Amino acid sequence: MTPANFDFHCHSSVSDGLLAPAEVARRAAANGVDCWALTDHDDIGGLAEAADTAAAVGMGFVNGVEISIEWREMPIHIVGLAFDPAHPALVGGLEGLRGGRVERARRMGEALAAIGIPGVYEGALGYVTNPNLISRAHFARYLVSIGIAREISGVFQHYLTPGKPGYVDHRWATLVDAVSWIRAAGGVAVVAHPGRYKMSGGDMRKFLDEFKDIGGQAIEVSSGSHSPDHVLHFARLARHYAFHASRGSDFHGPEESHVELGRAFQLPPDLKPVWRLFH
Ligand code: AMP
Ligand code: MN
Ligand code: MN
Ligand code: MN
Repeated sequence: MTPANFDFHCHSSVSDGLLAPAEVARRAAANGVDCWALTDHDDIGGLAEAADTAAAVGMGFVNGVEISIEWREMPIHIVGLAFDPAHPALVGGLEGLRGGRVERARRMGEALAAIGIPGVYEGALGYVTNPNLISRAHFARYLVSIGIAREISGVFQHYLTPGKPGYVDHRWATLVDAVSWIRAAGGVAVVAHPGRYKMSGGDMRKFLDEFKDIGGQAIEVSSGSHSPDHVLHFARLARHYAFHASRGSDFHGPEESHVELGRAFQLPPDLKPVWRLFH
């Protein structure tokens, strides 16, 4: 396999994306993606439909997931690729993460009620497409619908990010948990969108040192949330750590995502593409 246009990060209605797994698959293929992974947050329930549709349209497919962790109290995402979706450590770990989301969502609703916006948990449930997976994105969609802000990004900026009234602390998985679940299931662990984390350069190096020590093998150099400068910066870090490089749009839906499936920047050609690690 030597894919020319791979996209290993995107979401379906199994987490907080707007399209069903089969629709995401068809859209990826229509955009020219030749190898694809669906990476829903903390849930792998869409993979069978994704794989079937990818096969039907003649597109390469690998299993994927985006695992929510915290590292030094910072929320971070680790993508897992090309794993066995039946492995009990992974299945059980993800189940625990989904359970925690419900309780967190209730607390977010209480926090927003406390500043005079009642009923947001119930409202967000109206946007949930997988009853086991409620995300801040569902809160954001509801808050836009009641006119709290014009756009999703404004809701996050003013209500749903650390320090803002609708943000509550939450215990996610640890870095070791996520990497060990993925590795136990035979997969490759990838740092998702490293350009999004508000970390100092020193903290980023400590984080990547730890990630590598425990078996992490790749980082997203190209991501829908990266600028051209991020691509150059994380390409340098990939070379320094001898990480493989991944690429993903982080597509959530046609109206919400500014980067389409298969349209994130191409990787600098000297980097080792992550698919070389798949077997
Ligand atoms: P959660 O996993 O519940 O903490 O929600 C994280 C999700 O919220 C991300 O995967 C995105 O879908 C969405 N999100 C986070 N920050 C932003 C932002 N600034 N703008 C738009 N969507 C965001
Ligand atoms: Mn999301
Ligand atoms: Mn993410
Ligand atoms: Mn994502």
